[in-house]
This record gives sequence, C-alpha cells and structure tokens, in this order.
Amino acid sequence: MAHHRPSKHTRPARPLGLAPYQTSAAKRDGRWVVRQIRAGQSTKDYRCPECERTIAIGAAHVVAWPHTPPIGATSGLDFRRHFHTSCWKRRP
Ligand SMILES: [Zn+2]
Repeated sequence: MAHHRPSKHTRPARPLGLAPYQTSAAKRDGRWVVRQIRAGQSTKDYRCPECERTIAIGAAHVVAWPHTPPIGATSGLDFRRHFHTSCWKRRP
C-alpha cells in the first residue's frame, strides 16, 4: 500500500469531470452541471428559481449547479438549484 497513489495515467478518462448520471448545459450565465432527479427521488419540496413555484416532493425535476465554482467557493455543488424540468429546458 505504501506506493498506492492516484495516477492520472490510470484514472478513467471522464470529460469535464462528470459522473455518468450528469450532463452539462451552456446557459446565458455560463456552463452548468445538470442532474436529472427521477420521480420519487426527492424527499422535500423546492422552489424553482425560474417560475418561483414549488416543485412538489417526489416530482421529477432537474438539479443544476455551476460547472465552475464561483470565486472563493470550493465546489459549485454548494450553489445547486432545483428547477422544473420544463423551466430548465426553457431557460436561455
Ligand atoms: Zn419552474
């Protein structure tokens, strides 16, 4: 184990650093990492920032966060927001 350390030569190639269930999308305010939440996967309700209406508990929707963390932040994940799937698609 003494010589065990990550090597960029053995790590699988993963463009943009995305997990398999994530995609990315370019919007007016930059590139976002997008994850689809399937029906039944959410355990609380969220407010969609596009239409400012509630996303019901258990409803299929989209969660997105900035691909590049804002200055001073360690992870864009801290800035994730939940959108209705249709609102996200409509978002320029
Ligand atoms: Zn919405």
